[in-house]
Amino acid sequence: MSITFKEVEHIYSENTPFSYHALKGVNLDIKQGSMTALIGHTGSGKSTLIQHINALLLPTAGEIHIDDFLISVTDKPETLKPLRKKAGLVFQFPEYQLFEETIQKDIIFGPKNFGATEEEALAVAKKVLKLVGLDESYLERSPFDLSGGQKRRIAIAGILAMDPDILILDEPTAGLDPQGAKEMLNLFKKINEQGKTVILVSHDMNQVLEYCDDVVVMNKGRVERHVSVDEL
Ligand code: ATP
Ligand code: MG
Repeated sequence: MSITFKEVEHIYSENTPFSYHALKGVNLDIKQGSMTALIGHTGSGKSTLIQHINALLLPTAGEIHIDDFLISVTDKPETLKPLRKKAGLVFQFPEYQLFEETIQKDIIFGPKNFGATEEEALAVAKKVLKLVGLDESYLERSPFDLSGGQKRRIAIAGILAMDPDILILDEPTAGLDPQGAKEMLNLFKKINEQGKTVILVSHDMNQVLEYCDDVVVMNKGRVERHVSVDEL
């Protein structure tokens, strides 16, 4: 699925004393099947931008096209529910995605929400746990009793369980040791090679560059640069 941003603005808490203009005139084209690194300083708007791709945030102005979906100011989030399956987003803070009493319930939540039976969802949960390097013994455990790196792996598993066409990962290697980070990046590359569009948000360009085709650099709410890795 390809992604196009046209003159997208995002203002948090508009018309309040706390309003903040986080995205400014963002134009962006992300090709179907590409793997893109989204980089930029703290506060440059990376997390804000990617939350527009699955309509968790709606633009204050402008539009976003995800294949046939059009996301604009006037949309109601509930009409965009199918996008949540097509564009899977793993949050920068995995705690946002872990809220059930067992890891099993957390992982099967997505597939069940989109029509899978309990049995199908459980089979998928076992498969994705393996993909993120964890065994089935985690299923009955509480997501709250895990290390930071384990929580991140579970959050990634929960999104992979929905088999999204677009996989968006916000700082997915934070909290992982160097070996774990490498394993995770290789997993995302493998998913990309199966034809999925992957967007990788990172502070550390050096860590992710060898896995990506394109680099988007954000600065103060704007897309400052969008080049292929070869052009760097
Ligand atoms: P980081 O690398 O630290 O994760 P980022 O590039 O992801 O940063 P964003 O989280 O998109 O940055 O934030 C962009 C700007 O918008 C920041 O200045 C931030 O303070 C502001 N911001 C983010 N979320 C909100 C919010 N809910 N309400 C108001 N302002 C916000
Ligand atoms: Mg962020």
